[in-house]
Amino acid sequence: MTGSDDLGTAELEAVELLRQLCSYPSVSAEGRSLAETADAVERLLGETGFTTRQLVVDGGPPAVHGELAGDGPFTLLLYNHYDVQPVDPVDEWLTPPFEPTLRDGALYARGAADNKGEIAVRLAVLRALLAGRDDLGLNVRWIIEGEEEVGSPHFDALARQHAELLRADACLWEGSLFRGDGSAGVALGYKGALYVQLDVEALATDAHSAAAAVLPSAAWRLVRALASLRDDAGAVAIGGFADAVRAPTEVERQALADQPDSDDELEATFGVDGFLDGLTGAALRERSSFAPTANIAGLTSGYGGVGMKTVLPARASAKLDFRLVPDQHPDDIARKLRVHLDEHGFEDVSVSVLLSAEPVRTPLDHPFAARVAAVAERVWGEPPSITPLGGGTLPLLASLRRHVGVPGLSPPDNPVYIGCRAHAPNEHVRLGDVARAVRFATALFEDLAGAAP
Ligand SMILES: [Zn+2]
Repeated sequence: MTGSDDLGTAELEAVELLRQLCSYPSVSAEGRSLAETADAVERLLGETGFTTRQLVVDGGPPAVHGELAGDGPFTLLLYNHYDVQPVDPVDEWLTPPFEPTLRDGALYARGAADNKGEIAVRLAVLRALLAGRDDLGLNVRWIIEGEEEVGSPHFDALARQHAELLRADACLWEGSLFRGDGSAGVALGYKGALYVQLDVEALATDAHSAAAAVLPSAAWRLVRALASLRDDAGAVAIGGFADAVRAPTEVERQALADQPDSDDELEATFGVDGFLDGLTGAALRERSSFAPTANIAGLTSGYGGVGMKTVLPARASAKLDFRLVPDQHPDDIARKLRVHLDEHGFEDVSVSVLLSAEPVRTPLDHPFAARVAAVAERVWGEPPSITPLGGGTLPLLASLRRHVGVPGLSPPDNPVYIGCRAHAPNEHVRLGDVARAVRFATALFEDLAGAAP
């Protein structure tokens, strides 16, 4: 597919809606145009037939809530976000990030892939379905927040205060990716995360490094504390770290075994000749899905500029992220980290928690997961690739589970592929993926019409 000429009505509508949405510079990290974008999103939902309202908690930007009552027992919740990542480095964009531009069969703009493309697809499909009938046969609730790209700091309070507006039989989260060949993927969960900062302050002020003979070093203290967190084989050495880890079930193992290998692409992308412990194929995918991690995301101390500066730094700090798997809990891991540091004599290393989110997953044998997979198989003529647990973290999902309890998944209605440059310059969606996403969303909404919860 090379242009918009081959697209049907709903696809063209999706592209037009996407153009409109992407003209708003809704960068949450900069607090830019959020109220204005929320108003635009609310108007688009209203024009589609939704009863709408804006939800604001604790001074966060507005989230848009929509409700579309249908004559059927099933209630579906949709989750999306209207905010986007900053555009830097802006001179690497071939066209301005907030002037949506069609070229080479793709629409380029910040937010096109993450996550306005999916909002446009869902809206366009609902509009097309409602044009042919006066009732969807299905109740749809939609929550579109404005802070996902900064970790959804107000979503937990929103889900707690407005749980009754979010109750549903199932939720479609932000969607998954299409594979390179256009085939579908379904993600049933994501790892949790504990993100912490470790700080050591050994001196009131930096000293000339001659003083290293007699003064303590914050940098050495921190390096030793970090080194104590893993054993020589790379296993996390925090006492009880893996106690709650649940092994994947046989069906989850099978789903991973059924996925195509991507070892070669990964090796090429990262310039490596292999993976930790010689892992390959299904074993590699199983480790990457179901193993928790302890990662050093950043280290800061002393002088890192050109040439040299002889200094004994007063302070040292590190950012660490732990990706957690079912049933690890971030609060429990934070407590065990503190105990570990104390027991190893690092009482002076302070720990600040920056992000805490539980892992969330819907079991592979859940009826809604089976239903979505069956619809995808009907649309593509082959079963979708199932990811039981993705390696990333969506903190809002833990809030949805905690306060609302609705099961969910990432379906193939997101017009996004691995090369879409989400979060990077020249973000885009391919029109072919818009068509695929529209086809799937249409089939799913039709399948759920009249369905029993
Ligand atoms: Zn997103």
